[in-house]
Amino acid sequence: MTLFKPTFLHVWMTLSLQTDKINISVSDGFLVLIWIGHRRSVTDVGMGQVVQRRHGFLVLIWIGDRRSSCTERTMGLSTNFEDLTDRRLLKQVHDNVHGNIYLEPISLKFIDTEEFQRLRELKQLGLSNMVYPGAVHSRFEHSLGVYWLAGKAVDTIKTCQGLELGIERSDIKLVKLAGLLHDVGHGPFSHMFEKEFLPRVFNGLTWSHEDMSVKMVDHIVDEHNIDIDPDSLTKVKQMIIASSEHGSTENMKEKKFLYDIVANGRNGIDVDKFDYIVRDSRACGLGCNFHFERLMESMQVMGDEICYRAKDYLTIHKLFATRADLHRTVYTHAKVKAIELMVVDALLKANDSLDIATSIHQPAEFWKLDDTILKIIEISNTQELKEARDIIQRIRRRELYQFCNEFSVPKDKMEHFKTITPQDIICSQKTGGVTLEEEDIVVSNVKIDLTRGRNNPLQSIKFFKDYGSDEVFSIQDDRISHLLPAFYQDMIVRVYSKKPELVEAVSEAFENFQLKTFGKKAQVHSTPDSKKQRRR
Ligand SMILES: [Zn+2]
Repeated sequence: MTLFKPTFLHVWMTLSLQTDKINISVSDGFLVLIWIGHRRSVTDVGMGQVVQRRHGFLVLIWIGDRRSSCTERTMGLSTNFEDLTDRRLLKQVHDNVHGNIYLEPISLKFIDTEEFQRLRELKQLGLSNMVYPGAVHSRFEHSLGVYWLAGKAVDTIKTCQGLELGIERSDIKLVKLAGLLHDVGHGPFSHMFEKEFLPRVFNGLTWSHEDMSVKMVDHIVDEHNIDIDPDSLTKVKQMIIASSEHGSTENMKEKKFLYDIVANGRNGIDVDKFDYIVRDSRACGLGCNFHFERLMESMQVMGDEICYRAKDYLTIHKLFATRADLHRTVYTHAKVKAIELMVVDALLKANDSLDIATSIHQPAEFWKLDDTILKIIEISNTQELKEARDIIQRIRRRELYQFCNEFSVPKDKMEHFKTITPQDIICSQKTGGVTLEEEDIVVSNVKIDLTRGRNNPLQSIKFFKDYGSDEVFSIQDDRISHLLPAFYQDMIVRVYSKKPELVEAVSEAFENFQLKTFGKKAQVHSTPDSKKQRRR
């Protein structure tokens, strides 16, 4: 390819103070840098963009084609995003994880709506605060955090590869918006609503909070007349669902890497995890040995995909390991699960009278549903809600479903594992003593992995050796430290008794079930006698 020698055409002109719009169009492949006034007032740098500025000088610098151009930095123009934004229009928020966060006007249009403010009433960790009392942070601050990190991630890439990749300021804006809005369709009580409650109401329903977020974004735009062009809006929505089952990469013809920043469907590394791993660990009072900054600073786009330095593979492993650890010790803590199971029962009992589940069909109704639904049930005095109310009262008085025992499914049984049901436990009951009923027992099947099922997540990540090298590769299992896991999934089966007086009978039936299924007891230890003898 013939490279043009940069030629400079300087056009100096004084603009009238009233001029606020200049249209510049250039043929494809040419780059126009626009420098207005002094360095601090640079409004935009890009190709054929509409520039708004009320005063100062306009300098047009026309440089050959994109490949032959010198970088923005060598031109002495800062591409730092903050420099390019009028700070008078930004709102500053102090976040306890990331420090100062600056919100742009377009994001404030979304934030200052009742639909977004609802996130304040959704605890990020659902009912985990019943065990870790500090875990009361909400999806509101998490969303601001993801917005901020999304901006930082694109900005870092833009600083190093902005021209080569053709990253425009509008790209940063859209990725940030996707980060801000990625959880706006989340249901109450973290994942319990979609994973435990909805499937029991509608058999086989496929509903995801990512899909709801997309619907909610449209609803907010319509309801509040937000001025955003349809193309941009589509991109924001695609970025939100990029990692979900319904996400499609077909329409994303160019700059695919932009769709991996908020919700990464290709390898699971995204700023959503960066934020919640650090935020959740901090709220629960657990240490966090994972530092996302290292990854953010060194990421590089190669072949339209974000790649990482080979020497950072341990940091990436820590990301997945810390996440799995949070799942085991916090999100699926045995007692947290017991309370979740009770809340699911309460919501099922209240569903007909409060139309909880049907609200998923209408964003205009869905935004009204949040964690406060428990309070609504608790303080109600109608007869229809009595059963639901009684369950919530049991939670308040800590008369919880009793955890009997658990086992980890043996590795060789994982592949053909079938979900265990209360019926399976009842069938294993020996005759004599009390007769257990299906509704006395709850079974919770918990799956914990490193985001890629039984596969090593590091295998789906592209690495590069050093800056300047073009080679992209993945790291094979046998090249990694022998101290890292060789198996990547846990399946835990937990059994609960709804009544304390049945713990002994349920525990025995559960042990029989294990003997029947595996020929041995798979549980770590038998249920303590003190628990078996507990009476109401
Ligand atoms: Zn999130």
